[in-house]
Amino acid sequence: MRDEQDIIGRIQRQFPPRKIARKWLSIGVGDDAATLDLRGWGDHEMVLSTDWSLESIHFDARIHPPQVIGYRALARATSDLAAMGAAPRFFLLSLALLKSRAGGWLDRFAAGLAEAAREFGMELIGGDTSANSRIAISITVGGSVRRGHALTRSGARVGDQIFVSGTLGAAQLGLELLQCGAKPSSQISADERYAIERHLRPRIRIGLGQWLAGESPRGARIASAAIDTSDGLSTDLGHLCEMSEVGARIYARDIPMLKNAVASQHKDSRAKDRGSNSDALQRALDGGEDYELLFTVPWRTARRLPRQLKCDGGVSLTRIGEITKATRGSKSRIELISYSGQSTPLAAAGWDSFRFGT
Ligand SMILES: [Mg+2]
Repeated sequence: MRDEQDIIGRIQRQFPPRKIARKWLSIGVGDDAATLDLRGWGDHEMVLSTDWSLESIHFDARIHPPQVIGYRALARATSDLAAMGAAPRFFLLSLALLKSRAGGWLDRFAAGLAEAAREFGMELIGGDTSANSRIAISITVGGSVRRGHALTRSGARVGDQIFVSGTLGAAQLGLELLQCGAKPSSQISADERYAIERHLRPRIRIGLGQWLAGESPRGARIASAAIDTSDGLSTDLGHLCEMSEVGARIYARDIPMLKNAVASQHKDSRAKDRGSNSDALQRALDGGEDYELLFTVPWRTARRLPRQLKCDGGVSLTRIGEITKATRGSKSRIELISYSGQSTPLAAAGWDSFRFGT
């Protein structure tokens, strides 16, 4: 008979007590609530965020293995801390699931979660469980950032240069390949394998976020504004522009994306011809879940910005456009310059669960 205590025990087994007793965690998992002692945090303030991962909305239990669901649930929540320039520290997990998933499925889910927690340096400090007909995961994450250094969406100014880390659209391509039945082990190109990997195990940009926030002592903040690309460039850049009360001009030819990902070797006909330039651009503009950082940098700093950083296992930085004045009366704040040099307004067409959810 599986009861709540058994479920909690299975999760906790994946999170053995660490030798390095965290100075700031006075009371952790097991009591009614956790207590944190922030005196050891020095000149840092706490950053909090919360995120849903829901079956049939954010993942599909038929194509996503339980480890992947666990890993991605923590990664997508923690990416919001990275976007603020914060160092991840802890998380709380609320989990609802069918009784039939409370055995081996749960063990593998918790293993994926624990793997992400180790990678990001986070402590599980509490949570709650319940029975439910569909899997529902709510994760609250906490981190720390140097006082006054948090990156916001509202700091972009006219003339600032717009940058993005890594590539855009890869996670969307990876999802499409998986939906067509491709497997990481099947006969696919290196780009396609990379795309699937980016979907299954997003590489969130924790080190880059801290670098942009000027985390080192006496370090100056580098970015004027930042957001993570969870919903797609057209939507996320729109959020940033709205909060900063500015517009943006971006150039199609400068957007970093996988151009050679053609799934033509794949047997399923639906996966064919996925490599055209326009498809790749569409995915880069509207495909979500890349969890890259989209940020703005004052013009003077932009000239000195390296194209490659060693943090986060190596990350490239690409300039994709500039911040402009918001145009009155225009529906879109973003102007896209096409490959041929034509200017068109870019509407937000990225992920929105109220548009796409079941
Ligand atoms: Mg976000």
